[in-house]
Amino acid sequence: MDRLEKYIECYIPNKACNLRCNYCYAARAARSSENPARLSRTPEDVKKAFSIDKLGQCLINVCADGETLMPPDTLSVVIALLENGHFVSIVTNGTLYSRFLEISRFSPALLERLFIKFSFHYLELKRLNLIDAFFDNIATVHSAGCSFSVEITPCDELEPHIDEIKRLCMEKLGALCHVTIARNDDSPNIDVLSTRKFEEYLKIWSVFQSPLFDFKSKIFYKKRREFCYSGYWSLFINLDSGKAIQCHYGKKLGNIYDDNPIKLKPVGYACNSPHCFNGHAYLTLGLIPSLPCPSYAEMRDRPAQWLSPAVKAFFSQKLADNNVSHPDEKKSVRKNFFNGKIPLYARKIKVFIKMAINK
Ligand code: SF4
Repeated sequence: MDRLEKYIECYIPNKACNLRCNYCYAARAARSSENPARLSRTPEDVKKAFSIDKLGQCLINVCADGETLMPPDTLSVVIALLENGHFVSIVTNGTLYSRFLEISRFSPALLERLFIKFSFHYLELKRLNLIDAFFDNIATVHSAGCSFSVEITPCDELEPHIDEIKRLCMEKLGALCHVTIARNDDSPNIDVLSTRKFEEYLKIWSVFQSPLFDFKSKIFYKKRREFCYSGYWSLFINLDSGKAIQCHYGKKLGNIYDDNPIKLKPVGYACNSPHCFNGHAYLTLGLIPSLPCPSYAEMRDRPAQWLSPAVKAFFSQKLADNNVSHPDEKKSVRKNFFNGKIPLYARKIKVFIKMAINK
């Protein structure tokens, strides 16, 4: 039986992208015309470093700053991870036909454990006349046996198009797309990227009745103070350098290519992020066992059954089901007097300095 033992965020350092979305930090950094990055690691390196013997069976999310499928090496890495027996998730803008054709030719045994998150960049797809191509690419991989989800990033400019987007999704996907929350990663509190008040923003985008959006709305702006197993049951890894850290702003644990085993250490009570902005994965997969959350499957599926039975069963598990707890969790009195506040203040100061320099 497949057992969810770890969640791994695998970052591909590629900034190149063929779209120019106004809410995207990669596009804002004007790097979208760069050539796609090449990985310095071979699929064999990846296979060895990410073995099940070393890590347990994982859900591995593969994502880049720019378009994940642009680098020519991405799919060979995905195959290596799937062949190891992991479940793999790819985040993509869904535009590169040749890549989806290649995926549709993977063996059924690999496709059964592959999930693709299609980011629906409606305005850019419309500008480039790629809307039909986007939905055709989804149909290509789904008919081959791959699971998928479609998610839109709400931005103020998109509001006049809500009815058209809903109509299109029902026609092409049999269900409404999911909705995420756009972030301003340059703001000290990682605010919502909108001129709307938060309540107003939530009301406007709730019309998609997306469980993903509902859950993100509940956890956004909420500082987490419970014991978090990030760094113990999950890792954030740079696929090129191999650097492994606990979470986005967590401490360095080692190098996935050099260390076997890799030293694990939970973030515990010292989360230094203003809020758990990726909690739709981290929290629903159970990194904070004391926090009741819906399943990750609920964040991704729709009644039109976008997930295969195998992916749905895997995404429905909690990390605590297949892992031992850490003795520090029992220490309800926090040993760290500052409780993660020093790194948080340091981050805020860093952002203010950056903003001052850019003025
Ligand atoms: S609460 Fe969220 S942001 Fe904080 S360490 Fe855990 S997973 Fe990371």
